[in-house]
Amino acid sequence: MSDSWRAVDAYIAGKLLGDDDALAAALANNEANGLPPIDVSAAQGKMLFLLAQIAGARRILEIGTLGGYSTIWLARALPEGGELVTLEIEEAHARVARANLDRAGVSDRVDIRVGPASDSLAAMTGAAPFDFVFIDADKQGNAHYVAEAIRLGRSGTTIVVDNVVREGGVLDPDSGDPRIDGTRALFDMLNADARIDATAVQTVGVKKWDGFVLARVR
Ligand code: SAM
Repeated sequence: MSDSWRAVDAYIAGKLLGDDDALAAALANNEANGLPPIDVSAAQGKMLFLLAQIAGARRILEIGTLGGYSTIWLARALPEGGELVTLEIEEAHARVARANLDRAGVSDRVDIRVGPASDSLAAMTGAAPFDFVFIDADKQGNAHYVAEAIRLGRSGTTIVVDNVVREGGVLDPDSGDPRIDGTRALFDMLNADARIDATAVQTVGVKKWDGFVLARVR
């Protein structure tokens, strides 16, 4: 990774993010429990917080909890009475996330559902639509998760999908990497599906060269 990318992220954090005991404790607890350091960066977490607030989100869906670092950012964006459902396949990750969410004081508005996201999503019917969806789990599932986000959303629902550039790997149709195949399938789906309007933005920083899809259900 470029030292400049890291230095600029530190500059942004110093100017715009401030110290945050709950988030720092969450990352330390993740590490102590052996979770991989694949959470969003602090600047990206703040971006998710702001996007959810700009969208006026009262109901948020997250796919891929890990230790709940991004969950804390998103839960803090909710107004009084808002709720966040987050899906995680690993019980061990969910256990760490519960402790982190408790410490951050947001457990009252977060529902962690453990199991394969596709199963948890299939079981969701009839509830109020989600206003904001953050997708950050197995990349092979991305196209399906966006289709489910459309089903569970409404006109105007905001969808963010993480890790869609993968250091340029997205350009390689023969990578043999299922995460890249899944990302390319996501772009094909977004290209073909008239129900959604999308772009993707490349990013550099402590999470190297990557990017997000930002989409809105028409
Ligand atoms: N959003 C988190 C953050 O920024 O703090 C990071 C999520 S991490 C990149 C991806 C998580 O998705 C992992 O905890 C992994 O166990 C979970 N995951 C992977 N496949 C999944 C699946 N099929 N269903 C639900 N969760 C899954």
